[in-house]
Amino acid sequence: MNITITKTTTPKQKPDESALGFGKIFTDHMFMMDYSKETGWTNARIVPFENLSIHPASTVLHYGSEIFEGLKAYRRVDSKVQLFRPIENIRRMNRSAERLCLPELPEEETLEALLKFVEVEQDWTPYSEGTSLYLRPFLFGNDESLGVHAVSNATFIIIASPVGSYYAEGINPVKIMIEDEDVRAVRGGTGYAKCGGNYAASNRAGERAAQQGYSQVLWLDGVERKYIEEVGAMNVMFKIDGEIVTPMLSGSILPGITRMSCLEVLRKEGYKVSERLLSIDELEEAMEKGTLEEAWGCGTAAVISPIGELCYKGKKYAVNNGEIGETTQHLYDTLTGIQWGKIADEFGWIVEL
Ligand SMILES: *Cc1c(COP(=O)(O)O)cnc(C)c1O
Repeated sequence: MNITITKTTTPKQKPDESALGFGKIFTDHMFMMDYSKETGWTNARIVPFENLSIHPASTVLHYGSEIFEGLKAYRRVDSKVQLFRPIENIRRMNRSAERLCLPELPEEETLEALLKFVEVEQDWTPYSEGTSLYLRPFLFGNDESLGVHAVSNATFIIIASPVGSYYAEGINPVKIMIEDEDVRAVRGGTGYAKCGGNYAASNRAGERAAQQGYSQVLWLDGVERKYIEEVGAMNVMFKIDGEIVTPMLSGSILPGITRMSCLEVLRKEGYKVSERLLSIDELEEAMEKGTLEEAWGCGTAAVISPIGELCYKGKKYAVNNGEIGETTQHLYDTLTGIQWGKIADEFGWIVEL
């Protein structure tokens, strides 16, 4: 892929690393390329970060043809920059694209473009403990017409944002509300695709949970509201009586790269791991009997997020006395250790710049 690079003439000041937050500060450049049915992907370019100009009838504004990814570049102690399993993000983006009838990306060339972009922006990767450079690739339908159909034109962009440590105040277990009214996705729908529309539809439950002091919702399946699916923007795992259980990928769950990595670590270390259906009844029984030992969410942003309380139909259950459990801590230490280069990567997950 031939990438033209236009450097900004007005580079921004690097931010104060102690006040980064999430996704509020953007780097000096962005990667872009255009698709049309006739020409395929063309005009790969790294340009100064700026507002987009799109036609008011652009498909994405009316019919939600949008997919995205999220991954991070990590600053190691030796100050080199590295990425965690970036090819998996590109593969997943292509599965999302297939679902939404958006054009797929050439895998190897897109990885090359991503690495080139990170190389250009690498000085923006913060140095402080737990911080990283968040990368947000996204792709949207961009036909200039109101007809409803698979698009003939699309735009692919990667932007980057230096982000703070998710756990600036230490790892505090979160409180989760089990949602039994709204659903996030159904089999046959777009649950397994990382698309903006899924988020738009989940905000209402998230807002309701927040009003009651819960940080995210745990979704149940869209047909019976019986089986556990995932938490907000994270997959979910439970340790029940020594067995680690996570919902199987039924089609309505987002196949997380952190989820996959947790499973690979746990299996390699000989833990008993099951990907299966887990009903809310089974979980409730485990909470009543005290056999639910640990619960945690997993996703790129937080890596591992211990769950300290679950609320279902108004009933509150503490998990592990509201403290982080042993397996949860072990997974957190292992994954973050590999990501920031403090632990040797035995899995071949790391891509150095
Ligand atoms: C992105 C995402 C996840 C986590 O995926 P990772 O690849 O681990 O970051 C889980 N659930 C939803 C709904 C997501 O959008």
